[in-house]
Amino acid sequence: MCDPLPLPGLEQMDADARRARRRRREEEWRQRASAHPRTCTSCRAPIRWALTQADPPRWMPLADTPDPAGPVVVIRDGAVPVAYINPPSRQATGRLRWRPHWQDCPSAEQHRRR
Ligand SMILES: [Zn+2]
Repeated sequence: MCDPLPLPGLEQMDADARRARRRRREEEWRQRASAHPRTCTSCRAPIRWALTQADPPRWMPLADTPDPAGPVVVIRDGAVPVAYINPPSRQATGRLRWRPHWQDCPSAEQHRRR
């Protein structure tokens, strides 16, 4: 007879996976944040950076000024600003919203491919 994996085991696996993803994100931020410019290299607009929830994480340039209509909510995880795109309202309530810079940038195609 084959017993299903007990629930605590599954939860442990989830927690381990989340921790590993978090570590990779912190590592990426620590190693490469300083290499990311504070202004867009194409249009010179001031930008800020966040890492996406993807694994491996991707760098997302945001307009430097919050936008109440923007699709992105940034939640800090330790030192790392993490971008949540259209998050559920329980995550977004009371937080600033941001717009990806590629919505504004005249050279948007370049950003998407990066
Ligand atoms: Zn730009």
